[in-house]
Amino acid sequence: MKSGLLPDCMRDQRQPISVLRLGHRRERDKRITSHLGLTARAFGANEVILAGEEDPSALETWNSVTERFGGEFKCHYEPKPLGWLRRFSQDAGDGKAGVIIHLTMYGEHWHHAIEKIDRNRPTVIVVGGTKVPGEVYKLATHNVSVGNQPHSEVSALGIFLDSFVGPIDDVSHFSGGEIRVLPSASGKHVLNLEEE
Ligand code: SAM
Repeated sequence: MKSGLLPDCMRDQRQPISVLRLGHRRERDKRITSHLGLTARAFGANEVILAGEEDPSALETWNSVTERFGGEFKCHYEPKPLGWLRRFSQDAGDGKAGVIIHLTMYGEHWHHAIEKIDRNRPTVIVVGGTKVPGEVYKLATHNVSVGNQPHSEVSALGIFLDSFVGPIDDVSHFSGGEIRVLPSASGKHVLNLEEE
């Protein structure tokens, strides 16, 4: 076992993972929403869907990081997230239901929930900002807590993804791009791929 809760052979997620960020407030949530998308990207999600107030600057940040640091991460704005979730709960694009994981401190402990999640279906992880509408709890396939204390959507997402997806192979997952950071115990080691 490299990290997280499950052995690698059990973390066989073959389907895309989206993160749906509900209730974004352009001024108040600027940094946290930006960090949420970067956390989604860094820990193995394939896209982030922004809902709440429309905010091109968040999308620009995520696209710019992907351009520089590589990978296939996508993002877009969704004006009607509840309608989107209702559809996804019935039809994830192939006429069959998708998996909806709602991160909430009221949910089932993630160590237990993670073992029950169907990894063979497209998956969306929903995180809130302001109060989350009650319908989200009902639409969710799994209401999942990362501990039952209130903290942050960024920490909840990072911890959950690390357990659910497991370690990311940086070189294959973030191929392309202009910059690669090499792990180092001392100093900064950065490859500029454009100069190679
Ligand atoms: N006051 C909001 C409410 O009533 O839903 C919660 C605000 S909290 C700062 C924002 C988001 O962080 C939540 O919607 C949830 O997605 C996530 N979150 C916070 N604590 C969590 C926990 N212990 N487990 C899972 N997710 C959590």
